Amino acid sequence: MNSYPKSNLKIALLLSIALSVIIVILPVDERIDEATPVSIEVAKGDPESNTPKSRQLEIPQTLPKDEKWIHLKIRSGDNLARIFQRENLTAADLQKVLDLGEEVASLRKILPGQELSLKVDRSGALLSIQYKKTALETMLINRHSTGFEAKWIRAEPERLIVFESSKITKQTPSLFHAGKAVGLSDNIIMKLSHIFQWDISFALDLRNGDSFSLMYEEIYIDGEKVKEGQIIAATFHNMGKIHMGVRYIDLAGRSDFYTPEGQSMRKAFIRDPVHFSYVSSSFNLRRLHPIHRNVMPHRGIDYAAKSGTPVIASGDGRVTTRRQNESSGRYIVIQHGEKYTTKYLHLSAFARGIKPGAKVQQGQTIGYVGSSGWATGPHLHYEFLVNGVHRNPKTVSLPKAEPIAQDEMQRFKSQIRPLLAQLELYRTTGFARALEGGSTGK
Ligand SMILES: [Zn+2]
Repeated sequence: MNSYPKSNLKIALLLSIALSVIIVILPVDERIDEATPVSIEVAKGDPESNTPKSRQLEIPQTLPKDEKWIHLKIRSGDNLARIFQRENLTAADLQKVLDLGEEVASLRKILPGQELSLKVDRSGALLSIQYKKTALETMLINRHSTGFEAKWIRAEPERLIVFESSKITKQTPSLFHAGKAVGLSDNIIMKLSHIFQWDISFALDLRNGDSFSLMYEEIYIDGEKVKEGQIIAATFHNMGKIHMGVRYIDLAGRSDFYTPEGQSMRKAFIRDPVHFSYVSSSFNLRRLHPIHRNVMPHRGIDYAAKSGTPVIASGDGRVTTRRQNESSGRYIVIQHGEKYTTKYLHLSAFARGIKPGAKVQQGQTIGYVGSSGWATGPHLHYEFLVNGVHRNPKTVSLPKAEPIAQDEMQRFKSQIRPLLAQLELYRTTGFARALEGGSTGK
């Protein structure tokens, strides 16, 4: 416990190193300016405006005595005309503002709860309108000698890189448990699972001692976290094997995850045809065993899940069979190219449009878990066949997706090398923190 502060310092240090690295190595990436703390550029170079450099835009101290700001929250049923009337502003000023046309179109779509501020002088003449459309966008309308002028002020979000790592243990046996233990949001946990969904069965193959680490973005506006961004890089140690994925935006602007060698993380088949978050842990599966009522030869993988849980196609293909029989219950067979076939048994129902000849995409819902046929409890029985022979999808070698284009390989390598180095540095030093200080430290 007493090493905790030191470890925190270490994290902070790493964070700052990582930030500077990212700033240096991604000169063409859009993240560059967003990583730089920039507050709103209110009325920069506009001598007529007294508004302070802040998103709140409070009444400036230096406001002339005969001018004042009126701050409003838009009410249900409000429109600009109604607000002008309520605040004793003139119809002539309203007209001048509306005459700005397209530029002020947003003012015609104001919504209850949004903030609007009006600057008026003693005579009741309108000097400025400030309309906060979103946390990021504010419209500012200023009076000039010839009329009004509108402009948008955009707050620049700040991006911080966060490192985190966790471990599968008896207390945290699933990806969700292990992620939650270190404060990851559902959103980030899902994104993490998506990176590795072709390589790791999160439903069945997590083991005590498996571990992961990741770097992801958190987005702040005015020092307040507004959302999480993308995962930048992640590693997953699963059953003695290390999987690594790093995000790369190619020259065409497409972003995807790749191995450090530049292979796409995508593959022809995802591991789990039932999302891991629905699947009862393997401990439960063992307790339920046997889930087949009969001694039919067992050549598949069983996923115990509640009746009605969506079953998804593990790869792109075409439905060849949608049928019901005594042993398999309701079942679906999908053909994937010439070589591969997958089967999904004991369903409670078929998804709409799933019939022989139907094209399906990887991840598409094809049916729902049930216990039809020779099953004692709800589960999906999944089979994977290569050239008609039952195989273990874990060990069979599969065709790979498109790698990074050769002419982009240099760019790819130079971008990801420092990211992976940072992640590895964190992983090796950060785990010491987890071991010393417990799993909830942040
Ligand atoms: Zn089975």
